[in-house]
Amino acid sequence: MELLDIIKEAKNIVAFTGAGLSTESGIPDFRSSSGIYLSGEFEGYTPERILSNRFFRDNKKVFFDFYKKRILSMADKQPNRAHYALQKLESVGKLKCVVNQNIDNLLQKAGVKNVLDLHGNGSQFRCLSACGKGYYTCEEFMKMDDDIPRCECGGIVRPNTVLFDEWLSDDTFDAAYCAAKDCDLFIVIGSSLLVKPAATLVGEITDECKLVIINNMSTPYDKKAYLIISKPCGEVLEETINKL
Ligand code: ZN
Repeated sequence: MELLDIIKEAKNIVAFTGAGLSTESGIPDFRSSSGIYLSGEFEGYTPERILSNRFFRDNKKVFFDFYKKRILSMADKQPNRAHYALQKLESVGKLKCVVNQNIDNLLQKAGVKNVLDLHGNGSQFRCLSACGKGYYTCEEFMKMDDDIPRCECGGIVRPNTVLFDEWLSDDTFDAAYCAAKDCDLFIVIGSSLLVKPAATLVGEITDECKLVIINNMSTPYDKKAYLIISKPCGEVLEETINKL
C-alpha cells in the first residue's frame, strides 16, 4: 500500500515529528552533533552544557546571552510545505495530533491546532516567581532589555523549553502516550527515533496501528514499520496530502 492509500484508510492519525520536519525551513538539527546553528562553543561552554537547568541556575547571564543569540535566531523562520501539509491533514479531520520534538513553534505558525510539544516551545517564556505569568511571543521576551530578563513582577523569566537535564512535562507526555495508544496510523516524520523517552512512544502503538516512517536515516524501529520512505519529508507530505 502506498502512503496515500494508507492515509485514506486511516481515521485517527498521529504524527511524530523531529528535526527533519524543519530542515527545509533552515533550522538544522537541534540535538544532533551536526547542529550547526549552535555553531560550537559559546564563551567556552558547549551548547549542551549551557542548555541545562544546572547551568541556568549558576550562570544566567551566559545562558540568556546564548539563548538570545543562538536559539532566538529561529524566531523569524517560517513553516515549510511539510508543516502546511500537516495543517491540511488536521483540517480534514484525519490528523488527531502532532507529537512534536521541535521547539521552533513552526507547526503552530502553520496553523496546526493540536500540537504536543514534548520538549517545550522556544518562543514561549514563563515567570519563575509566584506570579507565573506566561509570555507567548519572542517580541515580549526581547523587550525585557536586561542581561537577565525579568517579568513585570520582578521575577526571572525562563524559556518554556525542556532543558537537557530536565524531565518532560508529565501532562504532555501522558497526552502523547494516550494518542499513540489510540491511533490507527502513526507517522514518524523527520526523526531518527533516538531521543528517549520521546521515541519510546513508538513502542506503545497497538498491533492494529500502522507505522509509517518518513526519514532520511534508518531508525531502531524500522523492522516494526509498515512502510518506510527515505525521501525529504516536505516533498513526500506535500505530494501525498495534495491528492487527498
Ligand atoms: Zn512574574
